Amino acid sequence: MRIMASSDLFDCRMCGDCCRGYGGTYLTRRDITAISGFIKLDAIRFQDIYCALSGGRPVLAQRDDGYCVFWDGKCRIHPVKPRMCRAWPFIEAIVTDVNNWYSMAGSCPGMRTDAPPEEILACVKRELNRL
Ligand code: SF4
Ligand code: SF4
Repeated sequence: MRIMASSDLFDCRMCGDCCRGYGGTYLTRRDITAISGFIKLDAIRFQDIYCALSGGRPVLAQRDDGYCVFWDGKCRIHPVKPRMCRAWPFIEAIVTDVNNWYSMAGSCPGMRTDAPPEEILACVKRELNRL
């Protein structure tokens, strides 16, 4: 049996649906350093202008239309986008319960749902190790 690659399971359609709505794009320390450097702001100013807090942790702020502050038809910080965005849809929640893949696919047209759970799980673990 051929081992499925991440590209067999996911092909981003660039629809932007994952960049809208409440969910909270959490930022790691490394994300903050990378993004603030990319947009040439110091880390404190970056957090003041572009972040909110969720449960005491920094998340990217949203505009009134519900989109991430960095969405503009495409991601304006693509080369340094947060770990959460880089990882999608190969995220820890699928290792916890592979059924999350199929639920997430309901809001992400790039995810295939006809693949067997064991293939999905193996692929997610591989991608998480690569991140
Ligand atoms: S919802 Fe899925 S297909 Fe659409 S931009 Fe996000 S990752 Fe890509
Ligand atoms: S950082 Fe980029 S990829 Fe992540 S939610 Fe914002 S616009 Fe989307």
